[in-house]
Amino acid sequence: MLILLELDAPREDIERIKEKIKAMGCNAHEIPGDSKLALGITGSTSRLKEDDFRIMKSVQEVVRVSQKYKLVGREMKKEDTIIDVNGCKIGGKELAIIAGPCSVESRDQVFKIAEILKKMGINFFRAGAFKPRSSPYSFQGLKEEGLAILDEAKKEFDLNIVTELLNPYNTKEVAEVADIIQIGARNMQNFALLEEAGKTGKAVMLKRGLSATVEDLLLSAEYIAAQNNFNIILCERGIRTFETSTRNTLDLNSIPVVKKYSHLPILVDPSHGIGIGEKVPPMAMAGIAAGADGLMIEVHHKPEEALSDGFQSLTPETFEKLLNKLKQLAPVVDKTLG
Ligand code: PEP
Ligand code: MN
Repeated sequence: MLILLELDAPREDIERIKEKIKAMGCNAHEIPGDSKLALGITGSTSRLKEDDFRIMKSVQEVVRVSQKYKLVGREMKKEDTIIDVNGCKIGGKELAIIAGPCSVESRDQVFKIAEILKKMGINFFRAGAFKPRSSPYSFQGLKEEGLAILDEAKKEFDLNIVTELLNPYNTKEVAEVADIIQIGARNMQNFALLEEAGKTGKAVMLKRGLSATVEDLLLSAEYIAAQNNFNIILCERGIRTFETSTRNTLDLNSIPVVKKYSHLPILVDPSHGIGIGEKVPPMAMAGIAAGADGLMIEVHHKPEEALSDGFQSLTPETFEKLLNKLKQLAPVVDKTLG
């Protein structure tokens, strides 16, 4: 259920409504909007009567929400959510570009790539310190040491850091460094982890699971929103199909479909989506053409020496060429790229 209030509703009116919701054994979530303040109600809402709330002060409208994902669905909020990360927006008119190597490998490697990307105007630097690898014998990341390197790079180059949270035990240290916490595909349905990430209040980038439907993805986002954290960025990174000529099948259908059902922004990760560096640019363009709010792209100054995902990484040169093409494409889809 959703209660819409005037944007300038007095705090005491809001609190009175929230108390009533709590007294009925449900949870109230304040959802910021442009024209109205929404109170989303989760829990066993079937017991609640709309009219009991309609008569309360400052209430404009009471609506039943039929979508399974109550807080992240369009029914709850009509307008697109724009996430503000230290003044850099994700979900508005400006395309958001997150770039960086798959893994933190050394201070030197991170500083080299961060410096190059910053000069290209990139504001979001992504690299994993904790890496989820299919094989236990593959490089697992520099872990705490990697986080410290990212923290240094963040200060040196004034970049927003995107890095993965792999298990709940590391939440505090990852949240201290990350401006956006990445939840990887393999953990999309690790619900305890989603809750921990949500509780930090940091923006969370949730990647679609390897065999997750769009509904699964939105229900996972709901776990984060249920912690009263609406700073959620979805990411399409391809799904497993019978096709073996590419690493995954980048499901571009999910972009317009997510936009239909949810108010959250969604990025495309063509690097993991196709898994072939030279084929990343066309799929990046396709993602933007499909309506994505931006991209997450793996960039490495020496892809052939990368400790993970070198084959799918762009060099700074090919990445810059892609940025120039994206600048031409952006206005066609009513977006801008600064
Ligand atoms: C990554 O972003 O480097 C990564 C491991 O991605 P995914 O979780 O989508 O496989
Ligand atoms: Mn990777």
